[in-house]
Amino acid sequence: MAKKQFAIIGMGRFGSSVAKALSSMGYDVLAIDADEQRTQEISGIVTHAVSADSTDEEALRALDIHHFDVVVVAIGENIQASILTTLILKDLGVRTILVKAQSELHGKVVGKIGADKVIYPERDMGLRVAHHLASPNILDYIELSPDYSILDMKAAGSLLGRNLKELDIRAKYGCNVMAIRHGDEMNIAPRAEDRLQEGDVLVIVGHKDNLARLEAAYSREEPARSGWRSRF
Ligand code: ATP
Repeated sequence: MAKKQFAIIGMGRFGSSVAKALSSMGYDVLAIDADEQRTQEISGIVTHAVSADSTDEEALRALDIHHFDVVVVAIGENIQASILTTLILKDLGVRTILVKAQSELHGKVVGKIGADKVIYPERDMGLRVAHHLASPNILDYIELSPDYSILDMKAAGSLLGRNLKELDIRAKYGCNVMAIRHGDEMNIAPRAEDRLQEGDVLVIVGHKDNLARLEAAYSREEPARSGWRSRF
C-alpha cells in the first residue's frame, strides 16, 4: 500500500508540530505557508515546503492539492483565510480535510462547509490539564464526542489490590475499563479477576456525566495535602 501523503497549510506552532511529527514518522509532507521565512524554517525537515497563499485557488490547484490523502488547515488567527481555504479545498475535491479551529463558531462554520474533522487544540488541552489539576490521579482526559470521553486514571487508594469484578466500575458508574496500562505494557482485554497494582493506569471510556461521578468519588479518596490548598 502506498504511503499516505499529507499537506499542512500554516506553519504556526500547531501546523509545524504536526508537519514535523508526520515527517519523523516517515510520511511525505508538503508544508505550505504564505510567509517565506516560515517555509524556509521547515524546508529541511519536510519533503517539500512551498510559499503560497492558500486563499488563492490557482496556487492550490498548481500544487495538485487534491492528490493528497489528508490536508490540514492550521491557520488559526485569520479565520476568514481558514474558512476560504477550507472551501477551496472542498471544491478542489480533497478527500479528507482537517481544520484547526480557534473557537466554537469557527469550528461550526468550517464543519458546515466541508471540514471532515475539526480540532480545537487549545480547548482540548485546557480540558485535559483541568481534569489532571482537579484530581491528580486523572492522568489524561480525551473527548471522543460532546458526550463521551476517555480518561486515564492512576490506580491508587482503595483500587489497589482489588480486581475489576470487586470494583464493579461498570455497574456503579456505567463506565467501561477498556485497558490497563503498566509502564510500556498494555492489557487491552482486562478480565474480571485482574487485580490492580501500584503503577497501573486504568483506561476508562464512558459518558462524561458518569466519568464525572467516577472522578468525583475517586478524588475524594486523595489524602489531604498541605500547602495553599488547605487554606481554602
Ligand atoms: P499557532 O497557534 O499554531 O502558532 P495560529 O493559530 O496563531 O498558530 P496563525 O499564526 O494565524 O495561526 O497562522 C499560522 C500560520 O499560517 C502562519 O505562519 C501564517 O503565515 C500562515 N497563514 C496565515 N494565512 C495564510 C494563508 N492564507 N495561506 C498560507 N498560510 C497562511
